[in-house]
Amino acid sequence: MTINEFDVCIIGSGPAGAAVAKALTGSGLKTVILEKQKLPRYKMCSGMLFPEAQAIIRRTFGEIPEKVMSTPRTFKGIRLYPTKDTPPDKPLEILMPSPLFSKEPGLVNYLLNVSRAGLDYWLCTQSDATILDNCTIRKLVKKDGKIVIRIDQEAKDVEIHARYLVGADGGQSMVRKKFFSDDSKPIAQIPAYEEHYTGSVNLDTEQWFYAFLDPEFSQGFASFHQKDNRLIAVTGVLEGRLLKSYFDKFRAHLEQAHGLVVKERVHSYGIVLTDMCFRGDFRLGEDNVLLCGEAAGFMRFFTEGITTALITGLKAGESILKHAKAGGNLIEMYAEAVAPEIKVVTEQHMQYASVIASMI
Ligand SMILES: Cc1cc2nc3c(=O)[nH]c(=O)nc-3n(C[C@H](O)[C@H](O)[C@H](O)COP(=O)(O)OP(=O)(O)OC[C@H]3O[C@@H](n4cnc5c(N)ncnc54)[C@H](O)[C@@H]3O)c2cc1C
Repeated sequence: MTINEFDVCIIGSGPAGAAVAKALTGSGLKTVILEKQKLPRYKMCSGMLFPEAQAIIRRTFGEIPEKVMSTPRTFKGIRLYPTKDTPPDKPLEILMPSPLFSKEPGLVNYLLNVSRAGLDYWLCTQSDATILDNCTIRKLVKKDGKIVIRIDQEAKDVEIHARYLVGADGGQSMVRKKFFSDDSKPIAQIPAYEEHYTGSVNLDTEQWFYAFLDPEFSQGFASFHQKDNRLIAVTGVLEGRLLKSYFDKFRAHLEQAHGLVVKERVHSYGIVLTDMCFRGDFRLGEDNVLLCGEAAGFMRFFTEGITTALITGLKAGESILKHAKAGGNLIEMYAEAVAPEIKVVTEQHMQYASVIASMI
């Protein structure tokens, strides 16, 4: 077994983990990102980069490379069908940038349609962190004020010792479950499911991302969009046993009301989200362990999770940097840094509930 010493160990190579690593780049803090999947990895996500996420990436990581773009490259915004009876030619249109999503001035007027595999991997490689992918965490403990992580990586047995640990490992975070479970606040699981098709549809998928709010199709919202040569339908529910029946109704509606013709189903995938953002249950960490992105419960209105993962990842990295230089209480620093984002996420979900209620 080899032992490797790092200052910071980040678990998860999504936008949150990549942002932590980017914030630490050039600081001299030796950083490692551990990822359980082989990179670049598939992530179930519509892969719409909202205007604020685009601004953060351009400012912090640089110009987004063409190689991570999907086709169509951009969407004007979201076409919304409040109910199943909304006439096919009368959707509501949310043009970007929209104050529903971000109040920052000067944002671009489109959603960027990206490949999550390509984007997330590119973001990680813009830092000076060591990236260890395809690794399985065997042991994760705190010992003498340090973090000890035992991993199997590419058939090698490695032990990592780190001063700081960041859980950027998504909604089903192992770091959160290990260190920050709270039985008094049970976390509900929200399964989501997608199917990718080749075929055709009478929707303008070259210019718009589509959302369907009818409660028969989802217990949140169902969506439909184009990515490269695929048409993708997605729904999510609170009760997993009902997922299939909601999805079937949604697909039947797409066929009947919007002329979806499926030539072939080429892919299907499922994922589980949590309800933390809806309940304002953010878990930021303790001592030398921080959580960020979806692991900490951050997800904006309409599953805009990339933006908030980038923001909280950057704040986690900056807080560690400050703490490493000047000491103090790391969690208090991080909590103060993410307080504005907690406000945004909380307010957006309150707003979301009332916007949806007024539409259906
Ligand atoms: C259906 C759907 C559509 C969405 N569409 C959009 C959208 O269009 N735009 C948008 O902004 N957001 C969207 N989101 C939300 C967005 O995908 C997430 O919020 C975002 O990816 C969270 O980033 P993260 O870095 O916190 O976690 P993730 O991106 O989930 O990254 C976590 C990483 O940690 C790794 N990991 C997990 N456990 C371990 C472990 N034990 N060891 C090592 N590695 C581990 C995972 O493999 C993964 O690579 C969507 C979500 C869903 C479910």
